[in-house]
Amino acid sequence: MSERFTGSFTQQEPIPKAGIDAALRVLQSGRLHRYNVADGEHGETALLEQEFATSVDAKYCLAVASGGYAMATALRAVGVKAGDKVLSNAFTLAPVPGAIAAVGGDPLFVGVTRDLTIDLDDLEAKSDQASVLLLSHMRGHMCDMDRLMSICDAAGIKVIEDCAHTMGAKWNGTWSGRNGVMGCYSCQTYKHVNSGEGGLLVSDDDDLMARAIMLSGSYMLFERHLAGPPKEAFAQIKYETPNISGRMDHLRAAILRPQLADLETQVTRWNDRYRAVEQGLADTTGLTVIARDVKERYVGSSIQFLLEGWSAEGVKEAIARCSARGVELKWFGGAEPVAFTSRYDSWRYVACEPMPATDEILRGIVDMRLPLTFSVEDCAFIAQIIRSEVSAVYQEMGA
Ligand SMILES: *Cc1c(COP(=O)(O)O)cnc(C)c1O
Repeated sequence: MSERFTGSFTQQEPIPKAGIDAALRVLQSGRLHRYNVADGEHGETALLEQEFATSVDAKYCLAVASGGYAMATALRAVGVKAGDKVLSNAFTLAPVPGAIAAVGGDPLFVGVTRDLTIDLDDLEAKSDQASVLLLSHMRGHMCDMDRLMSICDAAGIKVIEDCAHTMGAKWNGTWSGRNGVMGCYSCQTYKHVNSGEGGLLVSDDDDLMARAIMLSGSYMLFERHLAGPPKEAFAQIKYETPNISGRMDHLRAAILRPQLADLETQVTRWNDRYRAVEQGLADTTGLTVIARDVKERYVGSSIQFLLEGWSAEGVKEAIARCSARGVELKWFGGAEPVAFTSRYDSWRYVACEPMPATDEILRGIVDMRLPLTFSVEDCAFIAQIIRSEVSAVYQEMGA
C-alpha cells in the first residue's frame, strides 16, 4: 500500500503570542473602533498602517475590511463609474471581477500565458478599450512589470495592483503593489498575514488616498491617520466623497502587527517549501513546472503546475489518486466552479468573448496550497506522491 500524507492543506499556524497578547489588551480596553483612542494613544490600526507603508516604501496606507473592499475602493478612488470597462486578468479569483462589478464597471478580461501571468500582447491589443487595469498577481506570479507599465503608460491606463498573493514579493527590486497608482492586499486567513478578514491599500498619491480614506468611513477624523495625506488634501474631497464604511478595527490590526514584523522570515519559510515541491516535480513526464523569472522575488505560499494537453478524464484521475493519498489539488479546468477555483467564464454576469488560447492553459492548471504548518520534508513527500500518481496516470491513459 502506498504511503499517505496526513497533513491539512487548510491549517494555518497559530497567531503569534505577541498578537494574542495585543488582541487581549484591545479587548480589555473596550476601544475596538479605529477612531476610539485614549488621550495620547494612536491606536493599533493607525500604527499598522504606518508600519505597512514603511515596509513597502509607500507614502500612505489605509487598513480596510477586506482585500475585495480595498480593490473596490481603489477603483472608486480612481474614478471608475457605472458602465466603464476595466481591464483585468482572465485567470484570477472571483473577488477581482467582483470588485469591478461592485462599482458598476464591466470587466474586460485579458488572457493568461504559460507562465500564469497576464498576456501582455493581449493587454496591448485591448489597451485602447479602457483606462484602468486591475492587475491581479494571481497565485503570486508577476509578469514583466517593466513592459506592463510601459504599455499602460503609453495608453494612459491607470494600474491598480491586486497583491493578495504577493505581499512580500518584488519585481526587479520594486515591491509588488508599488508600480501602479494603488496597491491592494488581503489579510484574509489564506493569505500572507492572517486576521480572518482584512485588507490594506497603499499609494503615494495624496488625492487618491484622501478619497480612499473618506470612502472607507473616516467621518471627519482623517487627521488621526498616521499614514494619510495632510489635511489640505481633504479640503474639497471631504464634501464630495460618500462614506461606504469598510474600516479595519483595532482587534484585527493588533493581530496583524506582529505578523507583519515576521513577514520576511515567513517568506523564506514559504520559499523553502515551494522549492522542495518544485524540485520534487522537476522532469516529471507530462507535467510542466511553472518557470519563474529571475527578476521575480516571489512568495511561494502556493504552487501550480500544468498538465498540458491532458484529457479532462486524465486530469480528474490524477487529482483523485493524489487525493486518495492525502494530497489536495485544485483544478482550474473544471466545467463548474468549485470552492476557490472559479474561472472567467463562470462569472456569467460578465459579457465576454471566448478566449481559446486562455481556455487551453486554464484546462491544464493544477494548484496546491502550501501552509506553513507543513515541514520542508512534508513538501518533498507531497511532491513524491504527485510525481508518482501523475506519471502512473500518464502512462496508463496516455494522458
Ligand atoms: C483572496 C483574494 C482577493 C481578496 O481577498 P478578500 O477575501 O476579499 O480579502 C483578491 N484577489 C485574489 C487573487 C485573491 O486570492
